[in-house]
Amino acid sequence: MLNFELLKTDPADGAYPGSHARRGTLTLNHGVVQTPIFMPVGTYGTVKGVMPQSLHEMGAQIILGNTFHLWMRPGLDVMQQFGGLHKFESWHKPILTDSGGFQVWSLGEMRKISEEGVKFASPVNGDKLFLTPEISMQIQTILNSDIVMQFDECTPYDTKGHITTEAEARISMELSLRWSKRCVDEFNKLQNPNALFGIVQGGMFENLRQESLDALVELDLPGYAVGGVSVGEPKEEMLRIMAHTPHRLPAHKPRYLMGVGTPEDLVEGVAAGVDMFDCVMPTRNARNGHMFTRFGDLKIRNARYKTDEAPVDATCSCYTCRNFSRAYMHHLDRCGEMLGPMLSSIHNLHYYLNLMQEVRDALDAGKFGAFVLQFRQDRQRGV
Ligand SMILES: [Zn+2]
Repeated sequence: MLNFELLKTDPADGAYPGSHARRGTLTLNHGVVQTPIFMPVGTYGTVKGVMPQSLHEMGAQIILGNTFHLWMRPGLDVMQQFGGLHKFESWHKPILTDSGGFQVWSLGEMRKISEEGVKFASPVNGDKLFLTPEISMQIQTILNSDIVMQFDECTPYDTKGHITTEAEARISMELSLRWSKRCVDEFNKLQNPNALFGIVQGGMFENLRQESLDALVELDLPGYAVGGVSVGEPKEEMLRIMAHTPHRLPAHKPRYLMGVGTPEDLVEGVAAGVDMFDCVMPTRNARNGHMFTRFGDLKIRNARYKTDEAPVDATCSCYTCRNFSRAYMHHLDRCGEMLGPMLSSIHNLHYYLNLMQEVRDALDAGKFGAFVLQFRQDRQRGV
C-alpha cells in the first residue's frame, strides 16, 4: 500500500520566488515517512558501518536496499527463507529497493542490452545472468521492499567522451517506457502488496523528459522518480533537469530524485518540488574523512585538527559530536581505525537527516524561503 498526503505547499511568497517545495506524509506497509526526506543507502543490506540502532536514533525513516547486489549475495533462496529484507537486516521501518538497472548499467561493456532485458556476467563469479523487467519485479517482491522501482535503462551522459545525443537518449527513454509497462503487468501478476514507482528518463533533454513523464503518468503509478541524473553530467545540467521535471509530476503523488546529492542539491531539490532523496555521499565521504557541517565541509585529515578539542560540528546533536573531538577523529583517521569511518558516517547521516528535519520544520512554519537564505549563508561561512 501507499498513501501520500500532501500537507502543505510553499506559498513562494518572495523569500524564495518560484518555490515548489512541499510537505507531506507517506504511509507505507512498514510505517509512515515524513517528507521531504533523505534515505540512507544500504547497498548490501547494511548502511555501511552504521547499526540499525544508530539509524533509529538519528531519525532515519526509510532506507534503501539494492536489488542487484542482494540478488548476487546472499541470493534469493536466503531472502525467501527470511521472508524478505526487513527481518534479514533487522530494519523494520520502510525500505525502498532500486531495480538493478543502475548497477547493470554501471557494468559498462560487460553487459548487452536488448528489448527483452540485459545479459551480463556476474561480477561475483562470472556466471552468465539475464535481468529483465519481470525478473526485477520478482526479486523485489521476494525482498518485500515497501517501494519497488521499475526496471529501466539509465541513459548515460557520455560514453568514453561521446556525449549522448538526443536521438540516442530517445531510443533509451522509449525502451525504459516499454519496460515500465512490463513491470506494471508483472507487479500486478505477482500481487505485490507494496508500491511501484515509475522512473522518468530522457537524458539532458527537456522534451524527452516531458514525453517520458506524460507516458508514465498515464500508467497512474503510486509514485514517480526522476532518474538518469548524477551520472557524470556537469552540475549545471543536473540543476537544469532538476528545475524542469519534478514539479511537472502529479502533485498528489510522491516525487523521488535518484542519487542526488550535496546538502545544497537537497535544499534546491526541495525547492524544485522533490519529496525524496537518496545518495551515497554522506557515507562514502565519511569514509574518506569528508564531513558535512552547518558551516561548510570539513576534511578531518587536515593537520590543523590534530589538537582541536571542538566537536566536528558544535551545533550537531549526533552521538559523534556529543562525545568526541575533531582531534580524536583526526587521530582515528591517521591510524586507519575502523571506528573513524563509523563515527564519521553517524555524523554525516545525522547531518543530512537533520537538514531534512529543519526543512520540514521550516515548511510547517511557512518559513522555507527564509530558511534557505540562512542555510546558504551558514554553509558559506566556513568551519
Ligand atoms: Zn555530529
